[in-house]
Amino acid sequence: MEEIAEISPCPKCGGGSNLAIVGFKGGQSVECWSCHFSISRTDEAEAIAAWKQRVNNDEIINIENKKRRQNDN
Ligand SMILES: [Zn+2]
Repeated sequence: MEEIAEISPCPKCGGGSNLAIVGFKGGQSVECWSCHFSISRTDEAEAIAAWKQRVNNDEIINIENKKRRQNDN
């Protein structure tokens, strides 16, 4: 599965070694087994593209996490 190396790291936890492409009825999803983050699309290429896009948007996720942490305090 060479795609796995290509799509890492996980946009949520930054892990790259526990990613998997999982097929299910009606689609494919990229999943991180470290934090259980997953992105599902109708086919593998779309799922990978969406995953990569999410990685590029990781700054937005960090901001969201920061907000969440502030709310917790
Ligand atoms: Zn993860």
